[in-house]
Amino acid sequence: MDRLHAMIRPLVPASPEPALAQAQLAALRNQVPLLYVILAVNSTAVAYTHVGVAPDAITIYPLAGLLLLCGVRLAVWIRRGDEPVSDAQAAACLRTTTRLAVLLAAGFLSWGLSLASYGDAFAQVHALFYIATTMIACVFCLMHLRIAALSVAAIVIVPFSLCYVGSGHAVLTAIALNLLIVGGVMVFVVIGYSSDFTRLIGQRAELERLSRENLRLANIDLLTGLPNRRSFFASLDRATAEGHPDGPPGPVPAFIVGMVDLDGFKPVNDTHGHVAGDAVLRETARRLAAVAREGDVVARLGGDEFGLILRCTTDAAAIEGRGESLRAALAAPFDLPNGARTQIEASIGFAIFPEAGRAAAVLIERADYALYYAKAHRRGAAILFTEEHETRLRTQSVIEQALRHADLDGEFSLMFQPLVDVATGRTVAFEALARWTSPALGPVSPAVFIPIAERSGQINRITEVLLAKALAAVHAWPDPVALSFNLSMADIASPQAVARVVAIIRDSGVPPRRIDLEATETALIRDFAQAQGVLAALKALGVGIALDDFGTGFSSLSYVHRLPIDKLKIDRSFTSEVVHDQACRDIVKSIIDLSRNLKLACVVEGIETEEQARLLESLGCFIMQGYHFHRPMGFSDTLRYLEGQSTSAGPRIQAVA
Ligand code: C2E
Ligand code: CA
Ligand code: CA
Repeated sequence: MDRLHAMIRPLVPASPEPALAQAQLAALRNQVPLLYVILAVNSTAVAYTHVGVAPDAITIYPLAGLLLLCGVRLAVWIRRGDEPVSDAQAAACLRTTTRLAVLLAAGFLSWGLSLASYGDAFAQVHALFYIATTMIACVFCLMHLRIAALSVAAIVIVPFSLCYVGSGHAVLTAIALNLLIVGGVMVFVVIGYSSDFTRLIGQRAELERLSRENLRLANIDLLTGLPNRRSFFASLDRATAEGHPDGPPGPVPAFIVGMVDLDGFKPVNDTHGHVAGDAVLRETARRLAAVAREGDVVARLGGDEFGLILRCTTDAAAIEGRGESLRAALAAPFDLPNGARTQIEASIGFAIFPEAGRAAAVLIERADYALYYAKAHRRGAAILFTEEHETRLRTQSVIEQALRHADLDGEFSLMFQPLVDVATGRTVAFEALARWTSPALGPVSPAVFIPIAERSGQINRITEVLLAKALAAVHAWPDPVALSFNLSMADIASPQAVARVVAIIRDSGVPPRRIDLEATETALIRDFAQAQGVLAALKALGVGIALDDFGTGFSSLSYVHRLPIDKLKIDRSFTSEVVHDQACRDIVKSIIDLSRNLKLACVVEGIETEEQARLLESLGCFIMQGYHFHRPMGFSDTLRYLEGQSTSAGPRIQAVA
């Protein structure tokens, strides 16, 4: 047996491609039982015609043994049915089939040939006819397993031909020659068919692999290897469906949706380059995945934003614990590929399913709100969406709706606050400040409606209306009194909005040198390259650019000199502290020095007292704005105010209010 193994082993493919093996097995499942039936019927028919003609020891007993083996194998195939098998099992089954095909072909051939010398010519030819037709049937049944089919053909045809071609008997020689020719054609057909089959299965497997790969790529973020936005939403849909009233029975499985946003990622990207930015994102993904637990989903939603689905108990302590471990994981310094080290914090917003919402979109919106809240109030913290947020969100959506239906021209107006040069006492400009009086809600502060208008995509329309109104006011002021106008983050981010701003300024006929556009640091840093382009376009028009609220954002001084700006506006939070806080005074001093070195004008806002004004003047800042000089006033008041100023002598620091 071992020798037989050794002989046939080279004929058996070591490990057929799994897909091919499975396809071959599937085909053989239908055909091999048929093969055994044909073998049994044909052999029994021959045995029947030879009983009494040949000795029973030849006719019956060997056949009984062979049929027993066939019966056992037939039972094995029938029992196996269509049951799926592993690739290894499929390969093993094909090997066994090949070996048995060789063994049975040899067995049945020997039996058939031994019968062929008994009986009359009819009986002898019946035995030969049996050998030939059964062989042809078996080869066809084994066609999908080429090695087995060819082995059977060879095992039968070669000895058959050797026995009869040179037998000297014309009929037997003709039969042998017929079988040789038919066998040759069959071998040719089997080889052709099986290679087509192999190729077809190969192509099908490749197609399946490609479509699996496509599916994988469509659901993965290539940079970090995490599931992507699409995959995250699919997971969230599945998770919410589990808790749906029509979902599986049992207690509703609670989970938490988390939105993570890196604070200060953009500066790393801009200062150290995209390679460093990519490294930070990959490392963030690795750290988030490392603190994730079984069943959690960590995905990259885009940019520096990551999404989480956390399976944990939803009591306050558990959520706080998860938030803390995520925050701590991201707080450790990041080593950049260029050797530098940087610290990045993450703000996280959480929303609990089903308390905060049952639908995926609602959960995302609430987690996003909690994140937005964290960024605005407690940068670097993990904040859970609460009832309080819910109330605020409702108010916001009321405001958003009112904004959507507002008559911009009628409901929006401007107040103007002077920027005073304390060295001369002259007003150099007015900052235009938006005011909205909604018929339904009454007056709404810009600090409330501007962020809502930004988030709901309505700010661009508001900017256009207000800018046109502000420019109309400039015509009434004496040259060189200028206008300082606030642009929002969304104005700078949209090339179309910038183009509209440029067109409105051009159409107004106001000389661009009398216009300053204010933008906040955060707005510029969000997309540094875009901001650089936009500011350059505005500068080309001839307007001035002021960096508003300076000192509250990332205040990376490395940006300031890379942006085409003309003016820094020191945030009013410094002004209130400057008198009492030495550290604050030092910061303000260094900002003033910086602006002087970079040849930028410097403005302090929020001056409320004479003391603040004198101190800031002594630090070297001369352009000031604040309630101490004048509160924001309506347009007609600006004219009276300017009138009064032209008649006054203008003391060095003049409180007009
Ligand atoms: P901002 O650009 O920093 O404007 C200065 C804000 O400080 C104004 O608040 C002004 O009334 C207030 N202010 C001026 N002097 C003092 C002072 O001495 N003490 C204190 N405590 N506050 C002072 P306002 O008008 O409520 O505007 C708030 C913010 O809303 C603005 O901050 C700006 O970011 C935004 N905003 C206002 N108007 C517009 C606009 O037309 N477009 C855009 N995009 N944003 C605007
Ligand atoms: Ca401003
Ligand atoms: Ca400001």
